[in-house]
Amino acid sequence: MGIATVNPATGETLKTFKPLTNEELEAKLALAASAFKSYRQTSIAQRSEWMNRAAEILESKQVEFAKIMTLEMGKTLKSAIAEAQKCAWVCRYYAENAAEFLKDVPSSTDASSSFVRYQPLGTILAVMPWNFPFWQVFRFAAPALMAANVGILKHASNVPQCALAIEAIFKEAGFPEGVFQSLLVGADRVESIINDERVKAATLTGSEPAGMSLAAAAGKQIKKTVLELGGSDPFIVTESADLEKAVTTAVTARMLNNGQSCIAAKRFIVLEAVADEFEKRLLAKYQALKVGDPMDENTDIGPLATPKILCNLDRQVQEAAASGGKILIGGKPLSDRPGNFYPPTIVANLPADCAIAKEEFFGPVALLFRAANLDEAIEIANSTNFGLGASAWTNDPQERDRLVNEIEAGAVFINGMVKSDPRLPFGGIKRSGYGRELGIQGIHEFVNIKTVWIA
Ligand code: NDP
Repeated sequence: MGIATVNPATGETLKTFKPLTNEELEAKLALAASAFKSYRQTSIAQRSEWMNRAAEILESKQVEFAKIMTLEMGKTLKSAIAEAQKCAWVCRYYAENAAEFLKDVPSSTDASSSFVRYQPLGTILAVMPWNFPFWQVFRFAAPALMAANVGILKHASNVPQCALAIEAIFKEAGFPEGVFQSLLVGADRVESIINDERVKAATLTGSEPAGMSLAAAAGKQIKKTVLELGGSDPFIVTESADLEKAVTTAVTARMLNNGQSCIAAKRFIVLEAVADEFEKRLLAKYQALKVGDPMDENTDIGPLATPKILCNLDRQVQEAAASGGKILIGGKPLSDRPGNFYPPTIVANLPADCAIAKEEFFGPVALLFRAANLDEAIEIANSTNFGLGASAWTNDPQERDRLVNEIEAGAVFINGMVKSDPRLPFGGIKRSGYGRELGIQGIHEFVNIKTVWIA
């Protein structure tokens, strides 16, 4: 597939883009390297000023940016506006806190003075997905640029206008030429970019195959990577939970971004005693959801981003049905209209140990499991290769402690929905990836943690 804007709500190709030639790519890599030489000398105060300005631009043009997101990948306009606002938040967060996060850390040793100093690495490659086309980029770029690195972005091929808009934001904010550049290239060019000695490290958010390929290429060059891959987050509901709150949040958590979020709740694991009631209420709330034009403010669920995502989700639901899953609602693409529309779907009774139950469902499909007790619920929760987030609902302190300790995930949220927050680290374990974004940990991923020892 080429680099293009294809409206997922209509299937119409609106604009196509020529990938960079090798000469154009070379010029951009050279520019990044030369920009780094002077950019690394800028003060944190200066970088904060530019980053705060980026936040202002994001806010003042939030509707304009949101329309580009919705047009290119189908998220509802209201959620796209919220995304632009969240990007402004992460810019301000690092503008305000980077000086504290990056200051020297003294340590008492046999030296007269010894400390840790954080220094930038240089050009960092970000390979990003389409699902949060602004947020995924800003949560990389805000800490990376505040740490005085320069960024090059290889965005997903279906969101080129988002990629160009983000580059323009940093330029307009005052960052020097070359500090942040979007490279319109296909995935087949990523390895050669990593091989370039001017590129010092890389981060990727996306699928497992893409992560494996990037990490393998970077591994051959001994370059650091951060991977934020898929998830199949469990959402556990115990007898002691506030059921109505849990069900309401379950719907929001599953439908986030038309169901296409790595941290969306995907497997609902409910203790037997409350399972019938949970299922009944979940079904009622699903029936009330409105699927339609993502630009319409009354729409709850827009189209999936690409025909490939739709096709894969359809295949997964059919496989789930063939493996014993019972479709309570939905279950087939909406063929009465153009675009990549898939209805809210619930699959119940799927054996937790079948192969399809362990896959990531990237769309508005909930898998509903029943557990006899907490032991079994935790076992089901941990039974996939993923380990990104988990949401658990309980009002029992002992259950809460067990869930916090025993769930295999990068984050556990009790009585709340898994979400990313600039103030907290974000990332996974197992095949969900490694490294952390956001928080103090996020800004320390792409720096040289230099030990200084003075006799
Ligand atoms: P991909 O992982 O293919 O795309 C994400 C990014 O990686 C894009 O920029 C893509 O470029 C790039 N990419 C793809 N293959 C390679 C490669 N071999 N080497 C380097 N970069 C590569 O995701 P898809 O859009 O195809 O979605 C497939 C599935 O991935 C989804 O169904 C979902 O399960 C998962 N996913 C998870 C996300 C998350 O947030 N964790 C986000 C997106 C997808 P290009 O667009 O040019 O191919």
